[in-house]
Amino acid sequence: MKIGVLAVQGDFAEHIAILRRLNVECREVRLPEQLEGIDGLIIPGGESTTLSRLMSIYHLREPVQAMAAQGKAVWGTCAGMIMLAHEITEADPVPLQVMDIGVRRNAFGRQIDSFEQDLDIAGLEPDPFHAIFIRAPVVIRVGQQVKTLAALPNGQAVAVRQGNLMATAFHPELTDDTRLHQYFLDLAAEPAGPPGRES
Ligand code: GLN
Repeated sequence: MKIGVLAVQGDFAEHIAILRRLNVECREVRLPEQLEGIDGLIIPGGESTTLSRLMSIYHLREPVQAMAAQGKAVWGTCAGMIMLAHEITEADPVPLQVMDIGVRRNAFGRQIDSFEQDLDIAGLEPDPFHAIFIRAPVVIRVGQQVKTLAALPNGQAVAVRQGNLMATAFHPELTDDTRLHQYFLDLAAEPAGPPGRES
């Protein structure tokens, strides 16, 4: 199994460090040909407008969309979640539109409003997951085929899955908890089929 981490911007190094701890072969992806032969792709957090522009410049948009449509596992965290969305409340960036979710950027305010929250995540029971939100987005529309894996105490969805696709509003790569990365590896190991399928 080989996992790619989009490495054009953002905290890709931290994702790679966790994957290495889990003994997974991984590859930094900056060019379309580096998507060939990988079983899953992580789009890290960072700044989604920059991510989006660099993905266009390096011709990564279409091949990543194709990967998602083929049933390969794709996981977006934070800015990566914004990129996977079908629609966002802002004009910029233009998302990849591969997941049936609507997302609001910077939903909790500015950098200073970043926070940490213990979450119950479906599939990772029984222990809560300590989630770090940094200028985080939130899911404001969850499509019919999309399963909410975790929500904040106020009910806002912050971890979702649609078949082979997964999105989290927080930064699991900044904690020592490897469970979400393991969850993603399990997804990548048994392709869930095209994203229409529920869980
Ligand atoms: N606020 C950033 C954006 O809108 C996302 C922040 C993050 O990835 N931690 O792109």
